[in-house]
Amino acid sequence: MTENLFDKKLQKIKADGLYRQMKYLLSPQGSHVRIVGEDILMLSSNSYLGLCFDERLRKAAHAALEQYGTGSGGSRLTTGSYDIHKRLEEEIAAFKGTEAALVFGTGYMANVGIISAVASKSWVIFSDRLNHASIIDGCRLSGAEIAVYAHCDPADLERKISQFPGRPGLIVTDGLFSVDGDIAPLPSLVEIARRHKLLLMVDDAHATGVLGKNGGGTTEHFGLDEGIDIAMGTLSKALASEGGFVAGSHSLIDYLANTARSFIFSTALSPATIAVSLAALDIIRKEPAARVTLCEHSLWFREELRTMGFDVADYPTPIISIVLGRPDVAVDFSKRLMENRIFVSAIRPPTVPAGTSRLRINIMATHTKGELTRGLEAIGDVGRALGVITS
Ligand code: PMP
Repeated sequence: MTENLFDKKLQKIKADGLYRQMKYLLSPQGSHVRIVGEDILMLSSNSYLGLCFDERLRKAAHAALEQYGTGSGGSRLTTGSYDIHKRLEEEIAAFKGTEAALVFGTGYMANVGIISAVASKSWVIFSDRLNHASIIDGCRLSGAEIAVYAHCDPADLERKISQFPGRPGLIVTDGLFSVDGDIAPLPSLVEIARRHKLLLMVDDAHATGVLGKNGGGTTEHFGLDEGIDIAMGTLSKALASEGGFVAGSHSLIDYLANTARSFIFSTALSPATIAVSLAALDIIRKEPAARVTLCEHSLWFREELRTMGFDVADYPTPIISIVLGRPDVAVDFSKRLMENRIFVSAIRPPTVPAGTSRLRINIMATHTKGELTRGLEAIGDVGRALGVITS
């Protein structure tokens, strides 16, 4: 019975060119990975600073394992809170310049839990059209009315707000957009939120540790000290750990600890994972050079792609999208790169809107210029073979 039902659904997914399969890594997530015995250049990792095999992080995990053991044994409000959970939350609050912070099991859980706890049926949520799926799911779960505004478009946001006079509301946006790699116009959003007495929430999953002088994210990138009511981020990308966080006022954090269901009803992250996040935060604050290299390499890589004829924007960020349109073209491009031992993911709907399937390249601070040049040459060769570029 289920075989028939799901086989049919799978056939449709395959016919639409949207079938996805996992590739299993046999080595740490670094600028190179091993897959079925092959050495592959990784150009699609969210581990932007290349810290997943960093000795200091591994040592922190080992020490926490020896001190606290493996699982945390319960949810945070029952038996799973440890002193290092508290320490991490204090460190995150200091890092983001807020009164308090709260850590969730994943970034996805943070977004779903925060938004559904903050907004309710009488509210309106103003959400950027290209926000991450976890934001979209949080909005839906809240039961609030959802007004989607055009991507990074303050004028359209104003128009949408004017349609809901006097309603309590929340503006929510990715800080650094996870697939397009552009940065939300935060100064305008702060001004609009203030003027209309709306809350503003920013998801800095990809900007944390990447943008801003101290790695504080898009808020620091724009030099904004205040105006973000709900600062969300993840520990799973540049920090090479796991988990999501929210930083804000004491009362917001206390409220979320009491109401966010994905926080309340889920086991706390293991102490070893928390120890890794603490060690990574320390590295991020003390080692700005990696961020400078990451930004320089990203800008250079984008420029080289443009010189070859690819249509690529010049954002100062390590997420580089080459939009190809059809899903089968994106998959073919990615497959051919893998034949050249280069890992670049094809991103298709529902991750991106229909008609904008693409390659998503992520630069890491640990990539050498030589490795990036090899990647560029292969992307150029495949691009020419598929007629994406002509020169
Ligand atoms: N927000 C954004 C913008 C993301 O890109 C992601 C993950 N890709 C998440 C939230 C979810 O974070 P996590 O992977 O830690 O669940």
